[in-house]
Amino acid sequence: MECDVAIIGSGVGGGCVALSLADTGARILILERGQRLPREPQNWDPEAVFVENRYRTTETWYDGAGNSFRPGQFYYVGGHTKVYGTAMFRFRERDFDGVEHAEGSSVPWPIRYAELEPWYAQAERVFGVHGKAGDDPTEPARSGPFPHPPIPHEPLIGEVFERMRAQGLHPAHMPAAIDFHAGGTCIRCGTCDAFPCKIGAKGDAETRLIDPSLKHPNVELQTGSLVTRLLTDDRGKRIVAAEIDRGGEKLTVKARLFVLSAGAINSAAVLLRSADSKNPAGVANSSGLVGRYYMNHNCTAIMAVTPWRQNHTRYPKTLTLNDYYFGGDASDKPLGNLQLLGKIEEPMLRGALPNAPKWSRAWLARHSVDWYVMSEDLAQRDSSVVLRSDGAIQLNWKRSNLQSHRKWVEVAKRLLKETGFPIVLSKPFGTDTPSHQCGTARFGTDPAASVLDPHCRAWDHDNLYVVDASFFPSSAALNPALTIAAQALRVGAHLKIRLNQF
Ligand SMILES: Cc1cc2nc3c(=O)[nH]c(=O)nc-3n(C[C@H](O)[C@H](O)[C@H](O)COP(=O)(O)OP(=O)(O)OC[C@H]3O[C@@H](n4cnc5c(N)ncnc54)[C@H](O)[C@@H]3O)c2cc1C
Repeated sequence: MECDVAIIGSGVGGGCVALSLADTGARILILERGQRLPREPQNWDPEAVFVENRYRTTETWYDGAGNSFRPGQFYYVGGHTKVYGTAMFRFRERDFDGVEHAEGSSVPWPIRYAELEPWYAQAERVFGVHGKAGDDPTEPARSGPFPHPPIPHEPLIGEVFERMRAQGLHPAHMPAAIDFHAGGTCIRCGTCDAFPCKIGAKGDAETRLIDPSLKHPNVELQTGSLVTRLLTDDRGKRIVAAEIDRGGEKLTVKARLFVLSAGAINSAAVLLRSADSKNPAGVANSSGLVGRYYMNHNCTAIMAVTPWRQNHTRYPKTLTLNDYYFGGDASDKPLGNLQLLGKIEEPMLRGALPNAPKWSRAWLARHSVDWYVMSEDLAQRDSSVVLRSDGAIQLNWKRSNLQSHRKWVEVAKRLLKETGFPIVLSKPFGTDTPSHQCGTARFGTDPAASVLDPHCRAWDHDNLYVVDASFFPSSAALNPALTIAAQALRVGAHLKIRLNQF
């Protein structure tokens, strides 16, 4: 098989580049290991999604101690956005500059916020983001308003918003990519975060990027195509082909340009697996940094219980609080972000509260307002993705900044109590869920200290770009999808200019 541009992975990064190049006439082939996620009744069934794990991969990974686990990975057209929670945040200006934390500093980015701002604006338009500027004191400068007005708070959330304001806090409308406005298709089904959308009303990479790209006759999508390796020329410099496994059949795809976007963990694995005599440590890895500096976020779920009132909210993800993002009056070092989580249902509590009677879990779920507390994970060289001798992925996540995260959880619990929730329960997210994975092929200005240049081009290979969250040198403390999209759109525009050079 032969094409001009081979894009590996159909998530946010791969989809944004496909969309950017779709109108060039270049023959673009998107190689995706998964299939389209079926629209079926189970999409919205917590039992199927959380208890049966119907959509989660069945592959086995290993942690640093050699323990096996089934990772929270979802391989479908559209990648992880098929189940994401639709929160579409811009990172803050200071996140790009390097921030001092209690346990170290975050690494400055090779580009500043101002450079990414126009691409953030375009990413918001492409994903149809709803939001409202002006309430959040940490909000970065914007060149224009959000494409759509904010998703209105439902009654209980609106009351919490007002109570927080009365406490002198600055709650803000959460930027969200659901199709909820006059003429929109979202019906606020009552699921969303962690659930696929049965009616295509979530702004995910399949509906917003891949399907529009496929309207161009020069763009093709091949599902069930697992890229195992990249092959280089005699000098080891040019990528000439991708080796794929399609249902046990081995094929190669030749292209002039390769865009790798398999997710931060799998992209590192592909690069490492591609080691050859000219690139013995793996493709793009003369720095030895591929797979290193793996980051996720430090996250904890909080259930704030209203014993005297049921929570009937259908789409809770309308409120966020960043007063403590850089510490506020609680700390001289950054703490993080607080945002509403998708509504917790009884089946989701079975893992956390296996011995509690079902009625008590159901009561808790009916009476809780559910929150997501997020803190930055700092880049550490030994936090890594490596391949075991049997080829399986080993994820050595060395967590960092936990002191600040624990402090942030305590501050958040206190402020929720002051906001009128007498019972506040918390549980950290498990380490088997690399939802916000990033950092495994960092971009930078020094080829010895980074894998990619500031346009995500591999320093070692002129015709290889990596556009998923691998490029992040730091993780900030906000959800990553909009930042991945903004940079991939920026790279797409750069590639449009360079296309004839490959
Ligand atoms: C439950 C959940 C909720 C989330 N909520 C939010 C949120 O509200 N806001 C937010 O910003 N972020 C959220 N995230 C994170 C967000 O979804 C991801 O950061 C983002 O989708 C990553 O995009 P990506 O393109 O980098 O990678 P991915 O989405 O991982 O895409 C990679 C694609 O490559 C394919 N692939 C992998 N390996 C190969 C291979 N070897 N060959 C071919 N194809 C391959 C995969 O199947 C996938 O389609 C959430 C994640 C989860 C799991």
